[in-house]
Amino acid sequence: MQNTTIAYDSKVEGEVIVTQADAVINWIRKHSVWPMPMGLACCAIELMAAGGARFDISRFGMEVMRFSPRQADCMIVAGTVTYKMAEVVRRIYDQMAEPKWVVAMGACASTGGMYRSYATLQGVDQIIPVDVYISGCPPRPEALLDAMIKLQDKIGAERSVKNLFPEKANLNQVAEATKES
Ligand code: SF4
Repeated sequence: MQNTTIAYDSKVEGEVIVTQADAVINWIRKHSVWPMPMGLACCAIELMAAGGARFDISRFGMEVMRFSPRQADCMIVAGTVTYKMAEVVRRIYDQMAEPKWVVAMGACASTGGMYRSYATLQGVDQIIPVDVYISGCPPRPEALLDAMIKLQDKIGAERSVKNLFPEKANLNQVAEATKES
């Protein structure tokens, strides 16, 4: 019979698993995203729906919505960002610990949407870096879940170990550039 075992097999591998540090760190991070719900307008209702039983964001380990930036690592900007609110959004983002990610949920958060007015920021990426954009007005909860899966893919591809030592990485880059020139 053909051996179809592809997972970890303790009989073959004993008590030892060999893998890459990046793979382990990213696997832990992407399955324990704690969102910071930045609900600013109607899109927030869809965000709330994603937490309910029907859409059940807890299937992805993301149901732990935190209203404290110190305990969250993914800001979901759901709604219209006015200039009055922009400073607050930025401050809360700054208070979140690294590593952190941002999802712009809906047309308003992504581009200002239909509010091309003096009072509205034309996209939250003008004040904070956005990892995933969601189109729609409003996007459905499934679209948010899809975006979170895309964010998981992105987290899975990060160079986490290198990012733990940014100074060293910068020094290496400088050394390589000096060698080339
Ligand atoms: S994108 Fe549409 S539903 Fe979402 S906050 Fe803007 S106006 Fe409301």
